[in-house]
Amino acid sequence: MRNKTRILVTGAGGFIGHHLVGRLKAEGHWVRGVDLKHPQYETSKADEFEILDLRRFEDCLLAARGGIDHIYNLAADMGGIGFITANRAELARNNILINAHMLEAARAQNVGRFLFSSSACVYPQSKQRDTEVTPLKEADAFPADPEPGYGWEKLYAEQLCLYYRRDYQVETRIVRFHNVYGPLGTFDGGREKAPAAVCRKVALATDSGIIDIWGDGKQTRSFMYVDDCLEGLVRLMASDYREPLNLGTDRLVSIDGLADLVCSIAGKELIKRHDPSKPQGVRGRNSDNSLLRKTLGWQPSISLEHGLAITYAWIAHELGKSKMETRNSHELARAR
Ligand code: NAD
Repeated sequence: MRNKTRILVTGAGGFIGHHLVGRLKAEGHWVRGVDLKHPQYETSKADEFEILDLRRFEDCLLAARGGIDHIYNLAADMGGIGFITANRAELARNNILINAHMLEAARAQNVGRFLFSSSACVYPQSKQRDTEVTPLKEADAFPADPEPGYGWEKLYAEQLCLYYRRDYQVETRIVRFHNVYGPLGTFDGGREKAPAAVCRKVALATDSGIIDIWGDGKQTRSFMYVDDCLEGLVRLMASDYREPLNLGTDRLVSIDGLADLVCSIAGKELIKRHDPSKPQGVRGRNSDNSLLRKTLGWQPSISLEHGLAITYAWIAHELGKSKMETRNSHELARAR
């Protein structure tokens, strides 16, 4: 047992954390998952899964106990652009507490390596005012002007990782994700992100119907399928690179383009109704992957068409299941 790497995944009840636990178990590691909740759509494969609140330092000490070699710190209070815009104070407070306490717990428990999941939201808003945005290099993060709330908190936690490395020799790794999507991610309830929201809307629309798109649909992003995200995470953890690193694709797509792709996967012709009153974040954002390629000798390669086809099929299936459950419970109520 002791010659296996012992790994803690925080946020293991969430989208990326749950997928990561599966990947690390398939590689033969010993894994502890920690979260406020169990994964929503399937059971965790973790050797241990503990419900803890990582805003509390005592819970962080518990999570990191017992000779943990690596921590992937993925726990965060987060959601899509609507959610992070509406809840800046709460989200920033929660995440500052989680990250400060998890770093200190990693130091106190002599953990070998600590990976922090940052975000492309750290990049200055002033460099993202155009749909044809210049891809963002890691060094572009300063002078700082990040996304209010969520972006500031991520940028500060990145700095905290660098301070812990300098002052206490904690081996920190910092990844900046650009829009990760895939099956087993939240697709309704307000915390879902654009790819999942678009898949849900298309799946629920009748053919020749209408789907609502936030903003004018011309805003652009790049999207990374979750399996590429896991590959990048594992490679970065194993590498010697200690500065922040982008992890995303560099294929720029408009939100309208994303919706058209999902419609063609679903075989539906739908009308897009734009709502400019809804939050849409920066005008354009793309990842410059030069440093990623140089550092890890690799970059994400799963096509948006392939990843969305898998994601759409899963979301449509889940929606079909819940429709069936509602019908069954109505029939049961009528029969009583
Ligand atoms: P997610 O919301 O699916 O997972 C985060 C998990 O953290 C949730 O299960 C949540 O319950 C848990 N959590 C929140 N507060 C907690 C607390 N106090 N104690 C314990 N657990 C707590 O999000 P995700 O998409 O899996 O994102 C994982 C990480 O990657 C986060 O740090 C997020 O900020 C970052 N990130 C994700 C994306 C993306 O596109 N998914 C982009 C940029 C950054």
